[in-house]
Amino acid sequence: MKQFQLRRAIDIPDAIMAGIAPATERPGTQVRFLAGGTTLLDLMKLNVEQPQQVIDISRLPLDKIEPQSGGGVKIGATVRNADLAHHPLIQADYAVLSQALLSGASAQLRNMATTGGNLMQRTRCVYFRDTAMACNKREPGSGCAALDGMNRNLALLGTSEHCIATNPSDMNVALMALEAMVHIQGVNGLRSVAIDDFFLLPGATPERENLVQPGDLITHVTLPPRIRGNKSVYLKLRDRASYEFALASAAVVMTVTAGRIESIRVALGGVGTKPWRAREAEAVLLGQAPGPALFRRAAEAAMQNARPQSQNGFKVELATRCVAHALGQAAQV
Ligand SMILES: Cc1cc2nc3c(=O)[nH]c(=O)nc-3n(C[C@H](O)[C@H](O)[C@H](O)COP(=O)(O)OP(=O)(O)OC[C@H]3O[C@@H](n4cnc5c(N)ncnc54)[C@H](O)[C@@H]3O)c2cc1C
Ligand code: SF4
Repeated sequence: MKQFQLRRAIDIPDAIMAGIAPATERPGTQVRFLAGGTTLLDLMKLNVEQPQQVIDISRLPLDKIEPQSGGGVKIGATVRNADLAHHPLIQADYAVLSQALLSGASAQLRNMATTGGNLMQRTRCVYFRDTAMACNKREPGSGCAALDGMNRNLALLGTSEHCIATNPSDMNVALMALEAMVHIQGVNGLRSVAIDDFFLLPGATPERENLVQPGDLITHVTLPPRIRGNKSVYLKLRDRASYEFALASAAVVMTVTAGRIESIRVALGGVGTKPWRAREAEAVLLGQAPGPALFRRAAEAAMQNARPQSQNGFKVELATRCVAHALGQAAQV
């Protein structure tokens, strides 16, 4: 691990200025915010991340879960994953989010991990975490060892010739199906971004994963009011039953009225370079009578643009079954 300076932010403006100032005073200085530390510190120990300045934001007043007057909920960036998963409002109205959070990592990690840190977590591609290997995401222009290497766990949707890494988060998949908004405060003020726009496709610049710029602090996430009568489910398939990232996962938020699917949102995890909104599946489902044959057709539509690599072709059928099963569960719960 390289030497770094640790500083505790006293308030939000202080965090933003600390995030931007060293880079302007000394170009090239890397600054990182420290929230729960469950991703950042691992990557620093591996020398994948080498910030010269680390700004501790864990004591900023961003740790509240607040119901909004017009419906919906505001979730502070430093709310711990465990607190969010077990909050009564989240369990009652946004079950998919609670289920996704509880399917991730371990109880100890969830006690530390935060909403902002989870949004920003980096890929688990083994080459990204090994500084001896070529990786365009870690070192732009160095190549992608995964294309001809171990790509069993990597993506089939949204890939490019420069990077095929998956976004590893469970929470992000649920937030995608809930159409969350991410609120970011930077030197130019506060801006709000739909979660689908927050994450970027790798294209030719896989090192850029989202819209966060130096000095930008994610302050909170908002969820829209629950659609009356909707049901939601998160289903995660993985190599072992706990403490493991998704091979494929599906988040479904569905409303059935008078025997027809009145509203539907489907998102996939474990198969996309970003948490993946399956609009093709939604188009198949909307307005139809729920049933296994329809769910299978929708699931196949979700994966119709999949581009398998040498070792991950099995994920096409796995993800298809995952989506179909999650739809079936949502129709029943
Ligand atoms: C062994 C292990 C297993 C895991 N399994 C899973 C799993 O199954 N599913 C899953 O989804 N996740 C899993 N995780 C990942 C875990 O969810 C993340 O490590 C965690 O959510 C990161 O949150 P944090 O607060 O600890 O982030 P930190 O490590 O503190 O920060 C991560 C990054 O986010 C940035 N950041 C943090 N907060 C902000 C903010 N407010 N604004 C701007 N930038 C910010 C930091 O600068 C840093 O770059 C696992 C992790 C480990 C170590
Ligand atoms: S898939 Fe992406 S993260 Fe993995 S080695 Fe290739 S460029 Fe790096």
